[in-house]
Amino acid sequence: FLELRDVTKSFTLPAREVVALSTTSLQIEQGALVCLLGPSGCGKSTLLRLVAGFEQPSGGNIIFHGKPISSPGPERGMIFQDYALFPWLTVRQNVAFGPRARGMGRRSAGDLADRYLDMVGLNEFAEVWPHQLSGGMRQRVAIARVLANDAKLVLMDEPFGALDAMTRERLQQELLTICAQTGLTVLFVTHSIEEAVLLGDRVIVMSAGPGRVVSDLAVSLPHPRDPTDASFNDIRR
Ligand code: ATP
Ligand code: MG
Repeated sequence: FLELRDVTKSFTLPAREVVALSTTSLQIEQGALVCLLGPSGCGKSTLLRLVAGFEQPSGGNIIFHGKPISSPGPERGMIFQDYALFPWLTVRQNVAFGPRARGMGRRSAGDLADRYLDMVGLNEFAEVWPHQLSGGMRQRVAIARVLANDAKLVLMDEPFGALDAMTRERLQQELLTICAQTGLTVLFVTHSIEEAVLLGDRVIVMSAGPGRVVSDLAVSLPHPRDPTDASFNDIRR
């Protein structure tokens, strides 16, 4: 589904060359929620930006759905720590933005946006502006926007880092539910080992310095992903 083959990224600064990501290879299967851990500066955000297509690798290949990635695309959505909503658009318009940009009519895109806002529990907030929402709500809108854009792979860079513990826990549960319902593939960067083990089907650890995968573990605890399964909530609590 997604494969990184010997991917490297360096930046040339006036004084020196900075290696942001040293040779990294990994494969991610469709439908997996993969968490990426590693010390600050090891290249996690760089890796996500490369997969998103915001930047080109200095070496190696990134293959998505059998094709090399060369530019950003709606099928790979990015969720940032600071939400990055359009402040001049209402919640509904933010979510409808991608479908509209791809030519969908205003009415249909609005209906689609409402469906995804419903999924993240924000159907009552469609008409309000992003600045009128709490951080957790904004992050929900960002998730709805990526889903409405028909993302197959969602790249999340410390998405819940700025939220209080209770809100974070609620959004973690929602993310698990959405993944179970939609079969979404997620690459999730976090600094929290606890969060990685809670959410991940797999936890990948990168080393300090210019990162490289030092450990790649399948989470082998009982890890039911079906929220209708009675044991789902027990295990999560
Ligand atoms: P954190 O956990 O703090 O978010 P990270 O693992 O996401 O860290 P990156 O943001 O990927 O780390 O950065 C990796 C390294 O690459 C850092 O040393 C950073 O300074 C360098 N780097 C990233 N982007 C650039 C750039 N555009 N120009 C120069 N150096 C960069
Ligand atoms: Mg980062």
